[in-house]
Amino acid sequence: MTPVIALVGRPNVGKSTLFNRLTRTRDALVADFPGLTRDRKYGNGALGGKAYTVIDTGGISGDEEGIDAAMAEQSLQAIDEADIVLFLVDGRSGLNVADEAIANHLRINQKKTWLVVNKTDGLEEHSAMADFWQLGLGDPHPIAAAHGRNVTALIDEVLTPFPERDADIPLDTGTKGIRIGFIGRPNVGKSTLVNRLLGEERVVVFDEAGTTRDAIEIPFERRGEPYVLVDTAGVRRRKNVSQTAEKFSIIKTLEAIKECHVAIMVLDARSGLVEQDLHLLDYVLTSGRALVLAVNKWDGLESEAKDKMRAQIKRRLGFADYADLHFISALHGTAVGDLYPSIERAFASANSHWSTNRLTNILHDAVEQHPAPMIHGRRIKLRMAHQGGSNPPIIVVHGNQTESLSEAYKRYLTNTFRKVLKVRGTPMRFEFRSSK
Ligand code: GDP
Ligand code: GDP
Repeated sequence: MTPVIALVGRPNVGKSTLFNRLTRTRDALVADFPGLTRDRKYGNGALGGKAYTVIDTGGISGDEEGIDAAMAEQSLQAIDEADIVLFLVDGRSGLNVADEAIANHLRINQKKTWLVVNKTDGLEEHSAMADFWQLGLGDPHPIAAAHGRNVTALIDEVLTPFPERDADIPLDTGTKGIRIGFIGRPNVGKSTLVNRLLGEERVVVFDEAGTTRDAIEIPFERRGEPYVLVDTAGVRRRKNVSQTAEKFSIIKTLEAIKECHVAIMVLDARSGLVEQDLHLLDYVLTSGRALVLAVNKWDGLESEAKDKMRAQIKRRLGFADYADLHFISALHGTAVGDLYPSIERAFASANSHWSTNRLTNILHDAVEQHPAPMIHGRRIKLRMAHQGGSNPPIIVVHGNQTESLSEAYKRYLTNTFRKVLKVRGTPMRFEFRSSK
């Protein structure tokens, strides 16, 4: 597993500053999990061939009531998800009652905790740290996050017990087939769905040991086509309901998204849409991953409940309407097989290649149907379009004054490309470039 480092401490000790320093080394997939006051942030970083994930939190003031309590809740969840806790204190303001309250919590928590004294720039290290010994969390480690002082050495030491592993494991592992990952809140039916899918198909290998990756891969075949089920949350192992429910983990979700070609987001028709569903979907969208939506537990629902769920989806999932939507029952197997054509289409769409000629023709036809507006008496010209990347597909449109295109007109163009190219199940990105 990639080690997960949580940054905790009271507000203003320098957690964000350290977070930025630790994650700016690479194209960190950063997810914001909104809290009441401040987001819980997830970022990736690497040091000397070791990858890690960092979680920044709102902070704990030690006097948790109201809004502070919500911040504390964020911190506690971060600690829960982490392998390592960096407890930051402020070397300039010295020991504070809030620090003591947090230390009390961390001492009863089982997580490996490092006491980090920040803002030691321009201070005499020994006297800056003297106060903090009494927290009973072992040696204080002096750093200056803002200047990077001692930060690399600290992280190097923190990561010592973790083996070196490639920071950028390529998706293509040699196992053939589309890699399908599952995301969704606990209890929506992921485990039931996975077992249903595998129960109906021929599982070629099930090799739980011997994997060095974060995910368990389960190759299987359906109608002669190879697929790989990617299980990051261990949903396969929970075969019956008496086993304790999976804990909600953003880390697991981000991993699942990273490891798969197509993500199946499972929603629960019985509990309806909730905020967490929307956040998870937001991660998928940001990651650019291909997506299929499965509304589960559709069996035995009153038509009123079905209408309510449909209306909720229509109202709140507009931003994910690029994805196919299926109403299924994992428990009974209803409509589960329909997921496959959508998986195929999403994968194919995400990895499509179109010629510049074709894209430019689509652009010209679109402009002919509905000309771009005039700006200061001059018509915006859109000359050509080419593909700038795939998975997700990127379409680059060239012209002049493209910066003056209205959002509505851009939407018209992007919808046209989507429709004509029959792209389903993947986000698309559009760039508009101007040449004077
Ligand atoms: P957070 O609330 O714990 O996330 O704290 P921030 O990262 O927002 O930092 C709070 C303040 O401390 C900001 O004004 C930072 O510029 C400052 N700060 C952070 N790290 C250092 C440091 O190493 N030295 C000094 N002198 N100031 C720092
Ligand atoms: P997970 O935590 O997302 O893996 O969810 P589980 O697969 O463990 O399912 C949670 C609960 O929902 C279990 O009691 C399942 O039996 C039940 N469940 C799963 N799928 C369905 C379904 O299609 N219909 C109904 N009625 N219940 C389901």
